Amino acid sequence: MECESPSDDPSAVSRFVELAADTVAPMARVKMHDGGKFGRHLVCEIALPGRKNSGQILALGHADTVWPLGTLRAMPFREAEGRLWGPGVLDMKAGIAFFIFAARALRELEIPVASKVLLQLNSDEEVGSISSRPLTEKNAAASKAVLVLEPGTGLAGKLKTARKGVGDFTIAVRGKAAHAGVDFGAGASAVLELARQIERVAGFTNQARGITVNPGVIAGGTRANVVAAEARAEVDIRILKLKDAALLERKFRSLRPFDKRCSVEVTGGLNRPPMERSAGIVKLFRTARKLARELGVEVEESLTGGASDGNFTAALGVPTLDGLGAAGEGAHAANESILVDRIADRTALIAKLLAAL
Ligand SMILES: [Zn+2]
Repeated sequence: MECESPSDDPSAVSRFVELAADTVAPMARVKMHDGGKFGRHLVCEIALPGRKNSGQILALGHADTVWPLGTLRAMPFREAEGRLWGPGVLDMKAGIAFFIFAARALRELEIPVASKVLLQLNSDEEVGSISSRPLTEKNAAASKAVLVLEPGTGLAGKLKTARKGVGDFTIAVRGKAAHAGVDFGAGASAVLELARQIERVAGFTNQARGITVNPGVIAGGTRANVVAAEARAEVDIRILKLKDAALLERKFRSLRPFDKRCSVEVTGGLNRPPMERSAGIVKLFRTARKLARELGVEVEESLTGGASDGNFTAALGVPTLDGLGAAGEGAHAANESILVDRIADRTALIAKLLAAL
């Protein structure tokens, strides 16, 4: 079955969500949630063997991908060189499939699961989870653990016990236009002012503390012979510790023009809080490592600069283990693929975690 689901095409994402809902329907109570301008979000309560008297586990994933409709023509789904290839296979349709097969295995083998198990698939993760965030936070807050089905790190499929937080700022500079030849002195260049501000904010980077500041987009000016009246920059920030968010926010807000004839306006802020490696997360990881050893597999943990919906759940203080999906490489890239010989143990690990927690 092939079904593309780019974030910006709500009907395509909803088609995929429908497909996932139909697949789990024989073993779950299924509920769709309106996604506004995005596709629908899916929450399923999975019927598993055992008495549900030990709290709730939330399995979390997303239905959307970064690939536009029609990508399958250039990047067909195929099996070759011991891998499955295709747009979204790693990030993160394999993780969804693994979870479904894990649930089926628990049912068929009648392995008791003491917790209530919810599966939530969001339709807007790749574009910031604005619509799904409240639903994620509500279900996470009622859970004792969150298992995120995003891919593991690298070909080893390392689990993710920490993720950086992400924010974005826009710096808008207003200067004073003038003819660059006739009236140079009357102008105040917004481009020059922005260049100085960029140098300053880039200096907020502190790699040892896990803080990076990346001015990724700049725009400004109209012609080379005009002193520029306007310029702007979009800046991506990543942080490891939540307390650094306030610190950076303060630094950005206190930017003042070098050239007093220019004005500087800063907007934006933190989008996703960091997933900090808490004691609860470490405990969850150690449980997973022990269960993986029973399967003859050694799993490691990793820190990533990329964010997921696990950032939101971890920030609520709910122990969150991320990266339980496929082992592979090339997320958001032309070589996106997963390792076939790791499908069985990754699926088994999800099943064992559901039964053990
Ligand atoms: Zn993802």
